[in-house]
Amino acid sequence: MSFDPARVRAEFPILSREVNGHPLAYLDSAASAQRPLAVINAESHFYQHGYAAVHRGIHSLSAQATTDMENVRAQAARFLNAPSAEEIIFVKGTTEGINLVANSWGGSQLQPGDNLIITEMEHHANIVPWQMVAERTGAEIRVLPLNDNGELATEQLAGLIDSRTRLLAVTHVSNVLGTVNPVKALVAQAKAAGVLTLIDGAQAVMHHAVDVQDIGCDFYVFSGHKIYGPTGTGVLYARKALQEIMPPWEGGGSMIAQVSLPTGTTWNTTPWRFEAGTPNTGGIIGLGAALTWISELGLDAIHQRETQLMRYALDKLASVPDIHIYGPAERSGVIAFNLGKHHAFDVGSFLDQYGIAIRTGHHCAMPLMRHYAVPAMCRASFALYNTEEEADRLATGLTRIHRLLGG
Ligand SMILES: *Cc1c(COP(=O)(O)O)cnc(C)c1O
Repeated sequence: MSFDPARVRAEFPILSREVNGHPLAYLDSAASAQRPLAVINAESHFYQHGYAAVHRGIHSLSAQATTDMENVRAQAARFLNAPSAEEIIFVKGTTEGINLVANSWGGSQLQPGDNLIITEMEHHANIVPWQMVAERTGAEIRVLPLNDNGELATEQLAGLIDSRTRLLAVTHVSNVLGTVNPVKALVAQAKAAGVLTLIDGAQAVMHHAVDVQDIGCDFYVFSGHKIYGPTGTGVLYARKALQEIMPPWEGGGSMIAQVSLPTGTTWNTTPWRFEAGTPNTGGIIGLGAALTWISELGLDAIHQRETQLMRYALDKLASVPDIHIYGPAERSGVIAFNLGKHHAFDVGSFLDQYGIAIRTGHHCAMPLMRHYAVPAMCRASFALYNTEEEADRLATGLTRIHRLLGG
């Protein structure tokens, strides 16, 4: 399908507003994307016409809401090419999905002396839950480093894996550098050594098609709000056989079969065993609308369009005096940089005066900042609704700031 950026952009009402007297240039979608009317309307329609408690009532509205929600589970499975809907667990987002695996799988399976491998480019959400469970179980954390190009030093993985390695957790796409990691090869290498794998897909699913069976991973997780869906929604793909050995991590309604006093409570079947309490039904309906919307545009068409835009933006930014761009030449979605010796916060504040929204700070990746020996970076992120003109405005804005603040 051909991709018309102007038409797509018109579906996002917020993008036509002004900020500080300028048209908004929203270059912060890697932190959270904006939502198209299709998503806003689906959620609103559900609350106006279809809302009821799920999994509980015998009445028609409740039964329909339950069906609608479960249809999104099947849709999410198709989106990731998971073998079945029962391999999809609804979570609040990537953070909760990783915490679920760390607590349930990690908490029950890890023994003192076992080890887990993460990487130097992970988001804090794919570091801290593992550190917490390692501390509790006596497992050790090992770190696959970055090389100077901003890519993983994959040749060092073999040296980190031993007979006590249980899991490799790695991001599909870096939220700072935009590096697209060779997850299929990493998973194959881990699998050959009997090591399980978790892929953090928070920065991948909106930019290119993902097939969990092709990757071969055991767990794959992403957030709704970065793929044009609602906040407070997310998807954890977990292989059914692994779910079966995983105990619940949160107790409450919906996740049980029988509750007895004082003990003897039994669990619901998977994946519902991992979904305690009343779910974010409205959000899940909105997530379904987002997946439909993005699939109709076509991830291949989106990928093609974004690749073109990224090349244009990188080229433009390279002409800004004293700019330092971090990360590899080929990248997805984000461009991290610093301008001369100026602090990222100052640069970001000036850009805001021109109506340009970027992210500044450590990007929830302090170890990566340490690798580059900087306290902070600026990050411009590009989504399917961004334009060449916005990339021009960013480059012009930065050149002006450089002139104002000096080299
Ligand atoms: C945003 C992000 C997360 C955390 O996602 P939440 O939606 O905040 O739970 C984890 N990993 C990466 C790579 C991210 O970009």
